[in-house]
Amino acid sequence: MIYADFAATTPLDKDVLEKMLPFFYGEFANASSTHAMGRSSASYIENARKEIAEIINADKSEIYFSSGGTESDNWAIKDIIDANQGKHIITTQIEHHAVLNCCEALEKNGVRVTYLSVDKYGRIDLNELRNSITKDTALISVMTANNEIGTLQDINKIGEIAKEFSVPFHTDAVQAMGSVDIDVKKVNISLLSMSAHKFYGPKGIGVLYIKNGVRISNLIYGGSQERDRRAGTHNTPLIIGMAEALKKAYFEKERRAIVKERADTVKKIVLSGTDRVTVNGYDERLEGVISFSFEGIQAEGLVVLLDMQGICVSAGAACSAGAVKTSHVIKAIKKEEAERVGTIRVSLSYLTTEEEAECIGKAIVEAVKNLRG
Ligand code: PLP
Repeated sequence: MIYADFAATTPLDKDVLEKMLPFFYGEFANASSTHAMGRSSASYIENARKEIAEIINADKSEIYFSSGGTESDNWAIKDIIDANQGKHIITTQIEHHAVLNCCEALEKNGVRVTYLSVDKYGRIDLNELRNSITKDTALISVMTANNEIGTLQDINKIGEIAKEFSVPFHTDAVQAMGSVDIDVKKVNISLLSMSAHKFYGPKGIGVLYIKNGVRISNLIYGGSQERDRRAGTHNTPLIIGMAEALKKAYFEKERRAIVKERADTVKKIVLSGTDRVTVNGYDERLEGVISFSFEGIQAEGLVVLLDMQGICVSAGAACSAGAVKTSHVIKAIKKEEAERVGTIRVSLSYLTTEEEAECIGKAIVEAVKNLRG
């Protein structure tokens, strides 16, 4: 098997697992207990919080643990509207469904949502953003990197605009964390979502960064965990694992060069071996996420043929895989042309070997030839 779906999820790093193990058994105490064992668990959690905060240049009091990217996105969007009786949100047409479906639910309750269009590379128009802001705008939510095509938005500029109009800026950085460095202060980010399973950490744990002073409602009521904002017993092993995984992804920068090399190999083989193909996305992108659109073939057929050869890629985002409909991201960048192409996402890792990259490239070329007859 060759796994080429790292944007869907990554395997747990062995060092991360090692760090987590003691917290399942020996250091198992509830971090809210006031006895010595509880205080010990709490101190490990606070250290993890501090380490995560330092990586994004936040204060540790601004890091809130959640169950992952979906929860963080929902919290950021729904509860900022709730706390401020917000009437208008600006987001984009190519957000993850964790953002889009949340916005749709709010629309049913009378909130107005502007979905910014994107160009053929998946970039928003900053003037359209600026012109969409009204006195009612309670939030701008634009993802740092797109999960299907890898395009990076100009979050520096978006942050500047948000600051100019005093509107909170949320960014879904779930795909970006670990691949690009983000300084929340420099970029003027008010809220940032991340998820550990995208950077070789465990599944089921994430963070919402909430800038001090941002008015947002509590997510879950109960105990006083997470400063009363998200109640429930802390999942100590997952929290420890997330901090360790993020540190490794941040400090082991050599990983990024390997990913680029592997992606270059796959692209070179596919682009030289087939025709009527485009690589979607922008130059400034996540190197490991390659979106190929082939004219005249169905993505599902291509994914199945590759699967039969033991190569795991996706026909779009994992969440919409299985559904035989063109992804909203491909529709947004390709407009009416979207239905005429079959698009697959090949997502690579520093764990991908050069041989695997070659094998993926060659298998795609072969499968495309077969499907085109
Ligand atoms: N946002 C983006 C951009 C994603 O790619 C994903 C997962 O694919 C999510 C949010 C959801 O994250 P999670 O799986 O941790 O709920």
